[in-house]
Amino acid sequence: MRLVFLGPPGIGKGSYATEISKILGIPHISTGDIFREEIKKNSELGRVVKQYVERGELVPDEIVIEVVKRRLEQADCKKGFILDGFPRTLRQAEALDEITKIDLAVNFAAPVETIIERLSGRRICKNCGAIYHVKFMPPKKPGICDICGGELYQREDDRPDVIRRRLKEYEEKFKPIIEYYEDKGILVTVNANRHLKEVVEDCLRIFKERGLYNR
Ligand code: AMP
Repeated sequence: MRLVFLGPPGIGKGSYATEISKILGIPHISTGDIFREEIKKNSELGRVVKQYVERGELVPDEIVIEVVKRRLEQADCKKGFILDGFPRTLRQAEALDEITKIDLAVNFAAPVETIIERLSGRRICKNCGAIYHVKFMPPKKPGICDICGGELYQREDDRPDVIRRRLKEYEEKFKPIIEYYEDKGILVTVNANRHLKEVVEDCLRIFKERGLYNR
């Protein structure tokens, strides 16, 4: 089962991919995670992509495509994979089709207000990086990390006005990619305005309907 997960920042795409990857026994491949890992290791690739990732700019297509190509050649991808964060440009989507056949592109969608509620409540520990949510996963003491006692802060780009701008940018940038998969007849839209468990169940139901999954 070769899957592409699409959806705006804050929709919970990474969490859905993690859950579904466990259930299906296929790897969850996040290009953002690969880059962050390489930067941490200070590898040659890490040094090349660092400037882009730190500025929040797209890593050039030829680099990302090569990274994904190599990753998909690994043995654990034989049964399938979930791509998260790739493709991000039309060129990446076309290159992906040359590398392998994609079975389904899952587009996660939710009202803007839901995404704002999820992201604007997010708090991060200054010390250990643990993530909380003021409503959905509050720390025991407000503003203080349960794990290390560090001070919690809100990321600059998790503020409502910035979130609105990021969502608008996402919509403009991803329109051609969504249309690309729609034209191929392999796009499905999943309502992400529900609990994680329900979103995951809906995905599995769709995979079954499409004959991709039979458990
Ligand atoms: P993410 O965690 O998916 O938000 O990715 C973090 C950063 O990695 C992005 O801001 C980009 O700099 C880079 N990146 C990840 N995936 C891609 C991609 N498919 N194309 C270009 N750059 C990417």
